Amino acid sequence: MSSIYEKYNLKQVINASGRMTILGVSTPRPEVVEAVNTGMNHYFEMKDLVNKTGEYIAKLLGVEGATVVACASAGIAQSIAAVLVKDDDWLLENLHVTPVENNEIVLPKGHNVNFGAPVGTMVALGGGKLVEAGYANECSPEQLAAAITPRTAAILYIKSHHCVQKSMLNVKQAAEVARSHNLPLIVDAAAEEDLQRYYHDGGDLVIYSGAKAIEGPTSGLVIGKKQYVEWVKRQAYGIGRAMKVGKEGILGLTCAIEHYLTATKESGQQMVDKMTPFIESLNTLKGVSARVVWDAAGRDIARTEIKFDEAATGIATGDLVQALKQGEYAIYFRGYKANEGIIEADVRSVSAQQLDIIYRRIKELTAGETA
Ligand SMILES: *Cc1c(COP(=O)(O)O)cnc(C)c1O
Repeated sequence: MSSIYEKYNLKQVINASGRMTILGVSTPRPEVVEAVNTGMNHYFEMKDLVNKTGEYIAKLLGVEGATVVACASAGIAQSIAAVLVKDDDWLLENLHVTPVENNEIVLPKGHNVNFGAPVGTMVALGGGKLVEAGYANECSPEQLAAAITPRTAAILYIKSHHCVQKSMLNVKQAAEVARSHNLPLIVDAAAEEDLQRYYHDGGDLVIYSGAKAIEGPTSGLVIGKKQYVEWVKRQAYGIGRAMKVGKEGILGLTCAIEHYLTATKESGQQMVDKMTPFIESLNTLKGVSARVVWDAAGRDIARTEIKFDEAATGIATGDLVQALKQGEYAIYFRGYKANEGIIEADVRSVSAQQLDIIYRRIKELTAGETA
């Protein structure tokens, strides 16, 4: 397979950044690759495939309905379109001819994020008009309710580490507001690991990215109340056609979900064990201090936090992050705090051998070992 890198003159990547779209997200297990392969090699009545795999996934998850889409972003756009169009045949084909009358989608202001593309772009693709509730740093159930008008079509909640976390209502509270105003609640849980929680918390439609936590092929999953999922499926004949999911994606994701639910996944403690020798080596370097930190969103994920004392390393951390991408291997970290001299390594997709390569590269780029 390394010939692919040679043939197209591609850079080899060490991914210590987690599930990042810019690096190809994840590497599915062989069973999932096999399911994709089977999909590629056969014909199906596509409607039948969509319905039967949807029922299968719904049963696995204990939810009313499920359907596979092209990606989570497509899931957001089609979910918005679904709650606006519902069963309307004319609107299905004419969603963007004129704005739908009551198309306001209310979301907490601190959830109006850019996850690689803006949430608002997906809402607009689905024919919705974003309305922010609360403030950049807070949104209570009362503040969410205050933004609802007769033109509101749905409430959108983004469950993500990208969002403001403090002074923010939770999914259950958002569901109560939605219920009391007779509105559907759409939850974007793209990168989340729990495939049932937000449905049980009251999401009418809950959206996941297929290649992130689930480690499926490029795809997305929408689960929810039966009627709403049926409306999402109808969008295949409207805007959904511009984000078509193929048989390989449908079969690959269905297989990945089944494995995801049964496989014992790497625990935070196992990640700690894997990164401990790496941390010990890093701590021998001048101006470098490393330690274990836990996921800010509360998931069972441990990461290595590496802190640089720029006066001692002799290189600005931002420059170091760039240099790490420029060597023989492009090494990617989570660089959210590079401006504070801190980077984080997510070791889930990194082998022990690659951790050693990373250590040696950091040693090369900084002042080296302490005497
Ligand atoms: C990754 C992500 C998305 C988009 O998922 P895709 O499957 O890449 O379209 C949407 N929302 C959030 C919060 C995400 O983290």
